[in-house]
Amino acid sequence: MLGIDSLANHEHNVNVICLTLERLLSDFPLQTVPVLLPLAVETAYDYRPPQGLEAAPGDFVEVPLGATKRIGVVWDPNARSAQKDAPLDPKKLKAIIAPLEVPPLPEVSRRFIDWVAHYTLAQPGMVLRMAMSAPEAFQPATTRQGVTLSGQLPERMTKARQKVLDALQGKSGPLVLAKSELAVRAGVSPGVIDGLLKSGVLTMADLPPERFPEPNPNHTVTELRGQQIAAAQTLREAVRAQRYQALLLDGVTGSGKTEVYFEAVAEALRQGRQALILLPEIALTGQFLARFFMRFGAAPAEWHSAMTPSRRAKIWRGVATGEVKVVIGARSALFLPFKNLGVIIVDEEHEPAYKQEDRVIYQGRDMAVVRAHLGGIPVVLSSATPSVESFVNAQSGRYTHVPLTERFSGAELPALEAIDMREAPPERGHWLSPVLVKEIAETLAAGQQSLLFLNRRGYAPLTLCRKCGHRYECPQCTAWLVEHRYKQKMQCHHCGFETPVPQKCISCEAENALAACGPGVERVAEEVKTLFPKARLAILSSDLLPSLKEQRTLLAKIAAGEVDIIVGTQLVAKGHHFPGLALVGVVDGDLGLSQSDPRAAERCWQLLHQVTGRAGRADIKGRGFLQTYMPEHPVMQTMIEGDRDKFLQLEIAIRKRAGLPPFGRLAALIISSKHPGEAAADAANARRLAPFAERVTVLGPTEAPIFKIRGRHRFRLLVKAAKEIDLQAYMRTWLQALPAPRGSLRRVCDIDPYNFM
Ligand code: ADP
Ligand code: ZN
Repeated sequence: MLGIDSLANHEHNVNVICLTLERLLSDFPLQTVPVLLPLAVETAYDYRPPQGLEAAPGDFVEVPLGATKRIGVVWDPNARSAQKDAPLDPKKLKAIIAPLEVPPLPEVSRRFIDWVAHYTLAQPGMVLRMAMSAPEAFQPATTRQGVTLSGQLPERMTKARQKVLDALQGKSGPLVLAKSELAVRAGVSPGVIDGLLKSGVLTMADLPPERFPEPNPNHTVTELRGQQIAAAQTLREAVRAQRYQALLLDGVTGSGKTEVYFEAVAEALRQGRQALILLPEIALTGQFLARFFMRFGAAPAEWHSAMTPSRRAKIWRGVATGEVKVVIGARSALFLPFKNLGVIIVDEEHEPAYKQEDRVIYQGRDMAVVRAHLGGIPVVLSSATPSVESFVNAQSGRYTHVPLTERFSGAELPALEAIDMREAPPERGHWLSPVLVKEIAETLAAGQQSLLFLNRRGYAPLTLCRKCGHRYECPQCTAWLVEHRYKQKMQCHHCGFETPVPQKCISCEAENALAACGPGVERVAEEVKTLFPKARLAILSSDLLPSLKEQRTLLAKIAAGEVDIIVGTQLVAKGHHFPGLALVGVVDGDLGLSQSDPRAAERCWQLLHQVTGRAGRADIKGRGFLQTYMPEHPVMQTMIEGDRDKFLQLEIAIRKRAGLPPFGRLAALIISSKHPGEAAADAANARRLAPFAERVTVLGPTEAPIFKIRGRHRFRLLVKAAKEIDLQAYMRTWLQALPAPRGSLRRVCDIDPYNFM
């Protein structure tokens, strides 16, 4: 029993403890936890740890933010935080509400996010946002309900009911199946199942979690030949070594690059590690997935913009737990939380599609190399037409050069010819030279396929009124409206603005006076239809085939020989095999050259090479024709000669002389506003405040080639710096010297710009 004294004593002790605690707290600041939120924030915010729980770096947590709740990630103790920047009374800190039951974001992913943010000058929160782009993954995993047998038998048995009962009979007891799945397996209508549920013969039960099929590295091993053997060996060793190495798999189209890098994937699987294959989004074809399936006996996980939210969540979690072994994805897949990544493949590494142009502006191929470096793993860059950057790295020995110079089939690359459009011009209002038309006719007669390539969607890039000369322009952009005849719309290719094709001129009201100027794929297709009315024709253009599924269906039809003539945009250039293709005609070989872009020639060469390389893949000798007004241009010359290295050497020499990448560094500052005057004034002011630094030149400001986009008037400044200059530090200093942008004024920094429009 406690006497009065001891009670008092007890109270005294409690007081002493409280006092000591308070002193302790004031001596040692309250423990704080930095939490990075996937928002436009520069730093982590500090929180108190959750009540009675610990929060370790990488944990996903729910935190209060203003009046709402948000999900963020516990960042690292030494992370720069808003608290350290502007100390706050620790007592005012809010506590983390609760940790989430999600696998933590791995250390390497966090370092990667920090690195990308630092390099691109993006807000770390916005980079984290890309790593969390699967919102449903952070919600409590709901187990889906299915149906199973209750043990009761129906009072009256029918054929359909018997089928349902049979379908639920598993080898070791009754199965649990989703209703829709059961209906399909039993071949009955959902009504039958509902009836059985109602009468108690079936009962609801939790569905077992979905398993990811496991790719088997030894499923169907390809017997490699010739140079492929040594190439695969180099790749396998790189994976086995488990340290950073960049390899350039530089092989002509059809040399077996895919087969060879599949061996690197197989090796990673043997090591119990994951693999990531990056493809430009538009190359994520059914054909590619089918090839993967044949080699590994299981489908890979796909990651791209067209996936459903629940699929995204499933893959995100599977990648984080390590259950998903291989991901095939677009550039955003780099930000998935791989538990144990063993190798990254970047297919078509030269593709400009790897550059992301909005929000966080980054070059996916370059960031893949960074991710590999941080993870201590190899990265394989694969291409038939490597970028100048990667090629220079391979020459200097920074990247391991892995060449494949022979086509597997032994088939030669198509013989190329230029058609000088000045000498053999098409008829007025037509776009195909008589030389090309004759070739198509012969190909058709031989029962073979032709492909006509024009990298321009729609019917005509410009429409004008014959009476008053009015040109149809986008109200929000400095751009002509492109007529799309199938959709009967005029469309802006920069902002998506659409309007019906007018019956009479909107300016002078003249009827039937609109004239289409120049060709788009639809117009070339129209010409083909008139020339070859019996031929089976297909147009491959993203606006006519908006979904990946539709694109895959048409591509499969072409591959199966159900089409004679294909007219397509760059959608046709990527990674498809059309075994029956014998002729490729490039309608406008000069199209890519007329840009104010230091990589224009390179891109033009790559695209033309890729398109013409579609021909003659199997046993057919392919032919390619380039319609051009400047056959003497080095791009056309080296193209015809089929001399890629000569083209690259010419290009390298030009870049070296001009101090362009990879021999110098570039960054762009794009200043835009709804009011042209405001943008101009800010751009001029920015120029004035540009810090002086040796071996750094600031060019501009100039009006952007497309001055107005979505109603914003744009000025560009270009920073050229020597290679060893810390360009990011320069840009930061500069941006910090500028007044905070007000109103509709916006400044965007683009490190290593690829888009100069
Ligand atoms: P690339 O990726 O270099 O264009 P692919 O890997 O697609 O080349 O190979 C071209 C074609 O040759 C494909 O149909 C591929 O299956 C086939 N092929 C390449 N190497 C082999 C091989 N060792 N054995 C069987 N088929 C091969
Ligand atoms: Zn527009």
